[in-house]
Amino acid sequence: MKGLILAKLGGSSITDIEKPNVARHDVIKRLANEVKSASQNRKIILGHGSGSFGHVLAKKYRTHEGLINEDSLQGAALTQNVAAQLHRIVLDEFCNAGINALSFPPSSNAITKNRKITHWNMKPIKHALRNGFLPVTCGDVVLDSELGVTIASTEEAFSYLAKKLKPEKIILGGDTDGVFTANPKLVKDARLIEEINGSNIEAALSGAGESTKVDVTGGMRSKLEYAYNISKLYNIRCQIVNIDVPGRLRSAILDEKTLGTVIQA
Ligand code: ADP
Repeated sequence: MKGLILAKLGGSSITDIEKPNVARHDVIKRLANEVKSASQNRKIILGHGSGSFGHVLAKKYRTHEGLINEDSLQGAALTQNVAAQLHRIVLDEFCNAGINALSFPPSSNAITKNRKITHWNMKPIKHALRNGFLPVTCGDVVLDSELGVTIASTEEAFSYLAKKLKPEKIILGGDTDGVFTANPKLVKDARLIEEINGSNIEAALSGAGESTKVDVTGGMRSKLEYAYNISKLYNIRCQIVNIDVPGRLRSAILDEKTLGTVIQA
């Protein structure tokens, strides 16, 4: 779809990762205003992670592994419920900023098979875009045809949206300036890799690891694998930027030069 941008707000940026179920309202407000000021006449689908809302319960009940024991059904329900609470907060802040945001959580009508989305009705999202709304999706609990349930990350949702809607660009906003040679939260002299393509993907992947916080969707390694695969399969440019820094999300949407990692297979 011409001009379409998919943009993710990372869970570690929009929630207080130290405190379960605490949203960073001030950050979400600022990001809503950045999206608003950059979005004139642009088609954008927003996604957001679950941070300290979904990940704590998902980890406790091992929801990403499926219906594995007698607590799994309850665990999936509770995890979906907290993920939905953060989703509502994001929608609240976006609507309050004057953005016509509409909610499209994958749990309501996507299905996965072994954690990959196989079905998701795109018609409502396409209609929403055509009519000038800003669809908002999120990392979520989804029903899985093999596992019973699982967790689909925002990156998994974006991967499916990329296949079906062919956006021009994908922005993954998080709490680091991009992909580093090693985890910058742990290794002081880690260096930012500004461009990743076929020639350095293996080296970049070998330095990309888990998150240092509670997380069930694989940290930077998984993010980079998704971004590279999307870029390779559909020829879409992906950019990882630090949305804790004011202005970076806005610049990425406007395609201005900004600090980050560009992934183009
Ligand atoms: P989000 O919740 O924002 O989607 P994650 O917390 O899942 O993102 O993944 C980002 C985290 O991955 C960083 O905060 C960092 O701790 C970790 N990480 C591991 N290796 C790297 C790397 N090479 N470059 C950047 N971040 C890395």
